[in-house]
Amino acid sequence: MKKILMIGTGGTIASEMTPEGLTPELNPEQLLSFIPRIAEICQVECLMLYSLDSTNIHPEHWLGVARCIRENYDKYDGFVVSHGTDTMAYTAAALSYLVQDSPKPIVLTGAQKPIWFDSTDSKRNLTDAFLYACRGCGGVQIVFNGKVILGTRARKTCSKSFQAFSSVNYPDLAVLQDEHLLQYIRCDCHEKPTFYDRLDTNVGLLKLIPGTRPELVAFMAEHYDGLIIESFGVGGLPEYESGGFYDIIRAAVEKGKIVVMTTQVPNEGSDLTVYHVGGHLKSTLRLLEAYDMTTEAAVAKLMWIMGQTRDFETAQELFYRPVAHDILYSGES
Ligand code: ASP
Repeated sequence: MKKILMIGTGGTIASEMTPEGLTPELNPEQLLSFIPRIAEICQVECLMLYSLDSTNIHPEHWLGVARCIRENYDKYDGFVVSHGTDTMAYTAAALSYLVQDSPKPIVLTGAQKPIWFDSTDSKRNLTDAFLYACRGCGGVQIVFNGKVILGTRARKTCSKSFQAFSSVNYPDLAVLQDEHLLQYIRCDCHEKPTFYDRLDTNVGLLKLIPGTRPELVAFMAEHYDGLIIESFGVGGLPEYESGGFYDIIRAAVEKGKIVVMTTQVPNEGSDLTVYHVGGHLKSTLRLLEAYDMTTEAAVAKLMWIMGQTRDFETAQELFYRPVAHDILYSGES
């Protein structure tokens, strides 16, 4: 029988009701007591790492989960991390950079309804997560509502219904139906994982709206060393008079800040070269673009890169080098 470590971090799945709303209180053993079937699938050991609504999760917690997996890696065949859904896609992306090439499955799951609700999705998600941790591919993945999504490609796209997560610009890896696993895409096999333990959290994300004041970009560029801008369509910046966005970004880049352009459009990614609003930036400034990466992955990847280097060329090389299929299309290669 496979041996799986369950790492509890909180979330709705583990929440109880309080007068002011749901808050995590149940530990992993208590969660498992609702699903006796899991003990027939594998041998589980539990570790309660955090008890947090995932709104309260920080990059420090991503490092904590990665450290926990590293310390226990040799003792188990796979890992199930129960986690709130709100920031699960960020944690999945971060773990994809912090634990690379894992031959063992690292599965994140959670639920939209607590485990004690009559109509909960917790039991299905947790059972599927353990099944996948026993039979599925290595690497970081989210198992949710019967779908298996690559950790670098996940995004929460429904705030209430059970199909909370989508795979962005990449197909689902597998589906689980009535305990049957249909693995559509097999992940690459590796012999052993590479762990990283540093992130530079000095990264900010700005979503543009029509009329965003350039001062806001200047403020962000002053306060962060890595700046991700979610612009419109395939990407670009408003071309105002001098002293506007272009001059601010040029000054930031010249000071050594790393700027990444991405898009707020949910699918298909950026291509700055299409329009003058992007092409002018791209051809005259040393900046990066996220192409088909999710914003969650771009944020986590930039933190991971800046934890290693501030040199633009090295950062550029690392950013465009695919990790766990996070970027397929890159005009640079
Ligand atoms: N607010 C909760 C959390 O992210 C939502 C959930 O788990 O579904 O922890």
